[in-house]
Amino acid sequence: MTKRPKLFKDALRRLENALKHTDLSEEIALRIGTPKSCLEVSVPVRRDDGSLDFFTGYRVRHDDTRGPTKGGLRYHPSVSRDEVQSLAFWMTFKCAVVGIPFGGAKGGISVDAKSLSPMELERLSRGYIRLIADFIGPDVDIPAPDMYTNERIMGWMMDEYSTIRRQNCPAVITGKPVSMGGSVGRSDATGRGAFYCIRELAGKHGMNPSDTRVAIQGFGNAGQSVARLLHKDGYRIVAVSDSQGAVYSPDGFDVPSLIRIKEETRHVQAVYCDSALCHAIDATTMSNEELLELDIDLLIPAAMENQITAENAPRIKAKRIVEVANGPITSEADEILFERGIEVLPDILANAGGVTVSYFEWLQNRSGLYWELQEVHRKLQAIMAREFSNVYELAREINTDLRTAAYVHAVRRIGETMEAKGTSAYFSHPKEH
Ligand code: NAD
Repeated sequence: MTKRPKLFKDALRRLENALKHTDLSEEIALRIGTPKSCLEVSVPVRRDDGSLDFFTGYRVRHDDTRGPTKGGLRYHPSVSRDEVQSLAFWMTFKCAVVGIPFGGAKGGISVDAKSLSPMELERLSRGYIRLIADFIGPDVDIPAPDMYTNERIMGWMMDEYSTIRRQNCPAVITGKPVSMGGSVGRSDATGRGAFYCIRELAGKHGMNPSDTRVAIQGFGNAGQSVARLLHKDGYRIVAVSDSQGAVYSPDGFDVPSLIRIKEETRHVQAVYCDSALCHAIDATTMSNEELLELDIDLLIPAAMENQITAENAPRIKAKRIVEVANGPITSEADEILFERGIEVLPDILANAGGVTVSYFEWLQNRSGLYWELQEVHRKLQAIMAREFSNVYELAREINTDLRTAAYVHAVRRIGETMEAKGTSAYFSHPKEH
């Protein structure tokens, strides 16, 4: 039997839990729990001083039952096969939750991207694409941005892939610059999708924005977008953080000013920020761990996985948590939070706005017809509200937390397609079908 690494094992626990609420066959459980393929590459990068370094990269395709696989690319020293495999697994469920015709994939390179010069970063990104080019494609597997990658990097990658294929291939990568075939509205889609979900949640609980104190861990693409939209809607953003630490103001921050400070200090050709919020802003500072434990109404982890564990879950005081990051809560912590009555809106629904607008981008690239921003927003809002409602109603119906309901909703969709393709139940008892 295959040895399951830790993060992936934890991811599988959510599936096992969901399967208890379905009548899908064992074969389906086995297939959904097994990644389809994993590619490991060593990317050579010529440094600016003439020396040569190698960086390990991965691309995992978890499941393509419902369509070509889709998923982000992460540049971070912690990137490992286990992490990428787990992120690819979550992508499969995320695409199914929102009902878009994609399977799940993920990729990444183990690198401290901030330590590279702009040209080294470009060589790394293009070199990675040269190594995975036979593994991806508009009908096979479509990468997108994730932590420490952005639209500039996606543009380099699409350009490299097009050079290899000797034709323009915009649909191979999403999250590109609009000038290269990117979609308007993609850059803030993850945060916007979460914002639409929070509005639905607020409607269910009669939450008044001005009385709702929000803390956001991680102030990058996703964290900034959700902060900006919530602030505009009147929510009080009382704490935000980045990798260096957190800032806290009980009356709430002026979010556009915080974003401006981060933007003003971008370096490496507008890819990464130099400044840490806790150094640049005159406010109470605290650690990322302390931010998570603040007495607030809404906590939004928007940085990394495994931030709320069995160790700190008993000390979380937020009334609700919306997971904008992938996998910020471990399955053990889930149980503790559930027992303590803390409602969690799960990542596979809350951060699905990004992949939804990636799907819109792919559609636009393939049709050659480009949409207006209002159309992107309207279609995204309709999908997020519809699937929020589906998951919310299902949780009531089967009497579970929202995460289990989201997995049940997704696994039913994936299982239905697998059944349609044929399972052992069908082949052993053809007359019953
Ligand atoms: P990003 O690189 O733009 O920003 C990441 C932010 O997290 C930065 O502010 C960084 O300083 C901060 N950070 C890093 N390590 C931290 C730590 N240990 N504690 C606190 N903050 C830390 O990344 P992003 O694209 O905003 O992604 C953030 C999360 O959202 C990830 O989990 C990612 O998988 C998830 N996500 C992103 C997208 C997308 O479209 N970008 C889509 C779905 C999910």
